[in-house]
Amino acid sequence: MRCTLCGSKDVVFRYPSKLALCRSCFVNYIERKVLSTLRNYSMVKRGDVVLVCVSGGKDSTTVLHILSKYSRELGIKVIALTVIEGIRGRKGEVIKVLKRFCEQRDLEYHVVSFREYFGFDFDEVVAEYMSRGLKPCTVCGVFRRYIVNRVARELGATKVATGHNLDDEVQVFLMNLIRGNLPNLVREGQITEYLYHEKFVPRIKPLYYCLEAETAMYAVLNEIYVPWPECPYAKYSGRYWIRKMVNKLEITRPGTKWRLLAAKHFITYALRELYREYRLSTCKYCGEPTSGDVCKVCELRSLLRR
Ligand code: SF4
Ligand code: ZN
Ligand code: ZN
Repeated sequence: MRCTLCGSKDVVFRYPSKLALCRSCFVNYIERKVLSTLRNYSMVKRGDVVLVCVSGGKDSTTVLHILSKYSRELGIKVIALTVIEGIRGRKGEVIKVLKRFCEQRDLEYHVVSFREYFGFDFDEVVAEYMSRGLKPCTVCGVFRRYIVNRVARELGATKVATGHNLDDEVQVFLMNLIRGNLPNLVREGQITEYLYHEKFVPRIKPLYYCLEAETAMYAVLNEIYVPWPECPYAKYSGRYWIRKMVNKLEITRPGTKWRLLAAKHFITYALRELYREYRLSTCKYCGEPTSGDVCKVCELRSLLRR
């Protein structure tokens, strides 16, 4: 099989549509796709300071790589941030590699931790939350998003970029659908346009239209390698089995993920008007943005017996 675009024999990626791409056409295709996503959804504008949350996984590191590569063309400044949750066996080696990654690209790199902001490592509190029926990823995500938003403001960032890809969007869509959480289903998108609050830094997802398999291949071809130990709590996540199920479906029915994303857009479009007026309010305890009177972080912290 030859590359559909240039005829080269060096094919590295094949699509269900029979499109086959060689190494350079594939890299070019992914970068063009990310740049079009950024432009089509007005994710960034000239002068923006974009904070990339980089965990060390292939997706967030790919976002950092592409945004830094095109920062001049886009007229943006890119800075990187890693949040250390305090989970055993993670992040030590990752931080070293990411530091070098940022130095090579002349990027400002910041590292903050749960301990610094909340006074504990995640490992110390996870059992207590689980005993109350809460899933580790739910709690971890709430704490991490809180820190990222605060650090973004402190660093003067105007956008926060994350590594969420098409697979993530489809999994979250199915979870929201199964739980009947329509407001969240509508709010999840390429950019968080509904959540206006003076303290909320808008979040963008440059890999929104990239499959996980595409970013994995892109990372390999660009030698983006960060040691990424599996999180011991990932298996408790509700998304764990949805991910497995969707991946299986994609094998038997190629194109399933794209069709699910299209279904998500259709439902979002249909329900949009219902949630157009949605605004965040301010937490009465910590002053951070929240959807109720008290933010999730203050709520979670109040559950701890300390
Ligand atoms: Fe946190 Fe879950 Fe990610 Fe582990 S897998 S770092 S618990 S969000
Ligand atoms: Zn080619
Ligand atoms: Zn609060």
